Amino acid sequence: MKKIAVVGAGISGLSMANYLEKYKIDYHIYERRKKKDMAGHGFLIPKEGLDYLYQIIDSHLLHKKGNFLKKYTQYSHTGKILAEKELDHVFAISRHALIELLAQNISQEKITYEETVIPDELQNGLLKLSNGTIIDADIAIISDGSRSRIRKQLFAEETMNLVRESEVVNIIQNKDIAQAIENDFMKFHHEEGGLTFGILKLSEDSILWYSQFDNQKFSVQECSAGNLRKYMLEVFGSWHPLVSEILMKSDYQNVHVWSVYELEKLHPFYKTNIVFIGDAAHPLIPFTSQGVTSALKDAFILTKYLVEEKNIQQAFSKYETERKPEIETHIHNGRALLNQFLLPLSQQTENIIPISYK
Ligand SMILES: Cc1cc2nc3c(=O)[nH]c(=O)nc-3n(C[C@H](O)[C@H](O)[C@H](O)COP(=O)(O)OP(=O)(O)OC[C@H]3O[C@@H](n4cnc5c(N)ncnc54)[C@H](O)[C@@H]3O)c2cc1C
Repeated sequence: MKKIAVVGAGISGLSMANYLEKYKIDYHIYERRKKKDMAGHGFLIPKEGLDYLYQIIDSHLLHKKGNFLKKYTQYSHTGKILAEKELDHVFAISRHALIELLAQNISQEKITYEETVIPDELQNGLLKLSNGTIIDADIAIISDGSRSRIRKQLFAEETMNLVRESEVVNIIQNKDIAQAIENDFMKFHHEEGGLTFGILKLSEDSILWYSQFDNQKFSVQECSAGNLRKYMLEVFGSWHPLVSEILMKSDYQNVHVWSVYELEKLHPFYKTNIVFIGDAAHPLIPFTSQGVTSALKDAFILTKYLVEEKNIQQAFSKYETERKPEIETHIHNGRALLNQFLLPLSQQTENIIPISYK
């Protein structure tokens, strides 16, 4: 079998490695970050994503690390209930916990941390390590995230646009609040639109909160922990008491400020012996909640064709043909959800669940 290099050990790279393990295909992963260095945000994963996860992770272990959300409630910013919906198998888990679970089946010698892979300027199509060594691989699977440097080098005409929405996401340890909100997914909305605050329980003693801002009306930027705290309390201080309590009790050192970018146009998912998966192939805007599921499906389907097809180009082409239409649907749904978010509440469609379905 061919030699495979995987670039990036996020959700898609690690999922890929798990699928390659299943088929006993040899590979090596290179990851820029330190092994223990993981950002403090989390995921909502719909049932379809869970079904892919169950193929590669023990379901009991997975369930222990996260929480099933049973009900979605949409509130006004002061706490009036606007809409409610039962949820079917929507799972919440921290990025940290999911990455750890996905990495547990990967042996130490198959993954190199603190190694940034860069495209080799001189020899197009080749990748090199930070010490200049060219990576010796027949296939390079690129899973280096939405701002992929390798994609940018390969598709020089690329245009990425800043999306009219930013997010601030945080996880806090607080048993009392976690117990109080149980399995509810609560989302508070400002009447004028363009500003929300979501809360969900991740585990017995931790919750995740996230806020979404119309960045034409609000200016959320990377700044000191103290300044961010001040800004959050300024914007949300007069909201429902649970929102201000959570903001007061948060530690802002590990907050994730997400400036969202999207590709103006999707590129091909492969070129020569290089193939893209996950956000590197197709950044998805936050409203879809489909980034993880899409990364898992990419890894599953690419592996399937690498196993079935002798010819690599044929495998890549079948992978792209199968995945692209669904991704385009999520991009379309994501934009529709974004447009709803920007509208005043009175003009929004009722019962919106912030997840894109095919
Ligand atoms: C705040 C936030 C909230 C989100 N919420 C959800 C959600 O609720 N549900 C959902 O489905 N999705 C969510 N997403 C999207 C989801 O995180 C992504 O879709 C998913 O992580 C994609 O995985 P990936 O492996 O393709 O990319 P990433 O997870 O970004 O992983 C890329 C990896 O590549 C590494 N890397 C980058 N460059 C190099 C290089 N040159 N060499 C080596 N390594 C490199 C990075 O260090 C990183 O580990 C959220 C994203 C954010 C930022």
